[in-house]
Amino acid sequence: MKKVLFLKNTEHLHDALHSMNIQRFTGKKTLVKLHMGEIGNKYFIKPDFIRRVVEELKKIDAHPFLFDTTVAYNSLRKTKKGYEKLAGIHGFTEKKIGCPIVISDRGVSKTVENRVFEVANELADTTHVVVVSHVKGHIQTGMGGAIKNLGMGGVTRETKIMIHNGSKPVYYKDKCIFCGLCAEICPFKAIKVDKKNWKRSEKKCFGCGLCVDVCENNALKHVDANIQYLLALSAKACVEGKNVVYINVLKNIARSCDCDPSAGPIICPDIGYLVSDDPVAIDKASLDLINHVRKNVFEKTNKVDPYRQIKYGEDVGLGTSSYQIVEL
Ligand code: SF4
Ligand code: SF4
Repeated sequence: MKKVLFLKNTEHLHDALHSMNIQRFTGKKTLVKLHMGEIGNKYFIKPDFIRRVVEELKKIDAHPFLFDTTVAYNSLRKTKKGYEKLAGIHGFTEKKIGCPIVISDRGVSKTVENRVFEVANELADTTHVVVVSHVKGHIQTGMGGAIKNLGMGGVTRETKIMIHNGSKPVYYKDKCIFCGLCAEICPFKAIKVDKKNWKRSEKKCFGCGLCVDVCENNALKHVDANIQYLLALSAKACVEGKNVVYINVLKNIARSCDCDPSAGPIICPDIGYLVSDDPVAIDKASLDLINHVRKNVFEKTNKVDPYRQIKYGEDVGLGTSSYQIVEL
C-alpha cells in the first residue's frame, strides 16, 4: 500500500517532500514536469507554487529545471520557440521560478509492451524527476492527473499523434445496425449516421474512442487501443527506473484540461495538494477525494470513466491503486 500525503495548503510542502525522501535528489539534475498552460486558459498551476517546489529542491542542493514538451495541435505550444514565449507570458521565466525553463521537441524511442513511445530527450536523460500535475477534467480521459501529464506530456509530438490516432475508430459496416449511438456520444460531432449511411470526419475526430465504447455491435474497434491504456503505457515509458516524486494539485478543478482556452467552469471546489511516489496511487487518491466532494463529477461532465487510467496503470505495472492517505 502506498502512502499519499494530503496537504490543505503549501505550509507543509517541505515536510511532505522530505517524507518522500527528497534528500535522494541531492546533487542530481532534477526535471520538474509541468504543463505551463495554453493561451486563454486560466486554471493551469501558477508560477508561485512552482517557485516553492524549486526552492525546496535547491535547499537540498538538487539542480532543478522546469520542463515540458511541444504539442500536436495548432497553438503557440506547437514549436519550442512558441512554447518558450508562452511560458514567459504565463510567468514561467528563469528569473521568476529560479531555474532554467526547457521545452523539448525531440525524443528517444522506448518500447513498452511491444509499442514504441518517443520519450522527450531531456526526460529520458534525467534520473530524478518531480511531476507536478493539475487535476482537472478531460474530454477524452475523464480526468487528467499524473498519468496524463506524463503519458501525453512527456513524449514527442509524433507520439502524441500516435496515441490520439490509436484510439480512433475503425468501422465494420457488416456489423452496423445504424442505431446512431456513436454519433450521439461523439463530443466533436465527427460521426453522421443516416438510415444506411455511416460517416466519420477525419478532420473533426480527436481520437477519444468514446464511439468504440458505446457501440454494442462490435461495428467499431480502435485503430490500436483505448487512449487511457496507451497513456498508461506511455507514462511507464517516461518514468520506468527513475526516482520520481509526484505532486497533484487539486485546485481550480475545471471541466476541461489546461490545453483548453475555455476549460471552465470549475466543477469541484478546491481540495488541496497530494504528494506521493506512485503515479497510480496519487491519481486514484485524487479521484476518490474529488468524488467524495462531487460524486462522479468527471464522468457526469465528460461522459468518460476516469478510473480506466487507474486500472490500466495498475495492469501495466506503472503503480498501485492501493493507497493510504496521511494528512500533514
Ligand atoms: S453505435 Fe455501432 S451499430 Fe450503432 S451506428 Fe454506431 S457503429 Fe453502427
Ligand atoms: S473517436 Fe471520439 S471524436 Fe472520434 S469519432 Fe469517435 S467519439 Fe468522435
